[in-house]
Amino acid sequence: MSFGPGSDGVVATWVRDLGLPGLVDIHVHFLPQRVMRKVWAFFDDAERHYGTAWPVWYRETEERRLDILRKLGVEQFAPLVYPHKPGMAKWLNEWAREFAAREPDAVPTATVYPEPDAAEYVEQALRAGVRCVKVHVQVGAFDPRDPQLEAVWGMLTDAGIPVVVHCGHGPVRGEFTGLDVFAEVLAEHPRLTAVLAHAGMPEFGAALDLLDRFPNTYLDTTMVGTPFAERLSPLPPDWVARLADVPHRVALGTDFPNIPYPYATQLRAIAQWAAADERLGEQFLRAVLYETPKALLNDARGR
Ligand SMILES: [Zn+2]
Repeated sequence: MSFGPGSDGVVATWVRDLGLPGLVDIHVHFLPQRVMRKVWAFFDDAERHYGTAWPVWYRETEERRLDILRKLGVEQFAPLVYPHKPGMAKWLNEWAREFAAREPDAVPTATVYPEPDAAEYVEQALRAGVRCVKVHVQVGAFDPRDPQLEAVWGMLTDAGIPVVVHCGHGPVRGEFTGLDVFAEVLAEHPRLTAVLAHAGMPEFGAALDLLDRFPNTYLDTTMVGTPFAERLSPLPPDWVARLADVPHRVALGTDFPNIPYPYATQLRAIAQWAAADERLGEQFLRAVLYETPKALLNDARGR
């Protein structure tokens, strides 16, 4: 049983040795360059925001970042965009669609913010064929139960495309973060294909409870179990045992490029879970790293 790739340079070989054509990453970030620069400036100040330094590992040009993903063997990815204020989502969505049109391994994505035209631009995005939506409750600092999102959740449920929701308290608590708040959205829209970003960090147990309650909910692995995240939000002792009950409900996510460590670090964390329980093993790796994210991004059930 493999404990994962020792460095980025051997990731592609490691993936091939698992019998996979590549990786599918449901949680990476590409943004218009001036927005990305603001995000990086925020991470430069991470000591103040998060109480820990956060040196962005892949602070490179867009072209170079794409090249790095391809060298890692990432076959397909969801480049997620997110607004921190009103009036921004529609423009980001247009940018994300153009980006995916010129980069064939990027799926078209969209985002949303509670604002009067939210339903209109989400409908437009769905008609244009977006295949993944990011909802960032923590950065956006909005209530996911906002009435202006009611029709949006309904449309996303019907579309059956994955909605990557950052609704957990990590890395810092927001006014409306917490899985109990998002559980209310799920209770209203129980068929929503929701991917709980960062596996609900730090409420890992509560996230797994939601998987038990709602059949179309998933976890993404973004930052989970890496030494960096373990210092801030350690996984519960029963994590691996509980994964064994839901091996097909976990999808690779990484937060590339805004991570304070190499990409291979995330893969090692996942490989360690796979190795820690005989019910998981390499078939779990194949599901997490490829099959499940591939199905989420390519086989919307609602259509
Ligand atoms: Zn992210």
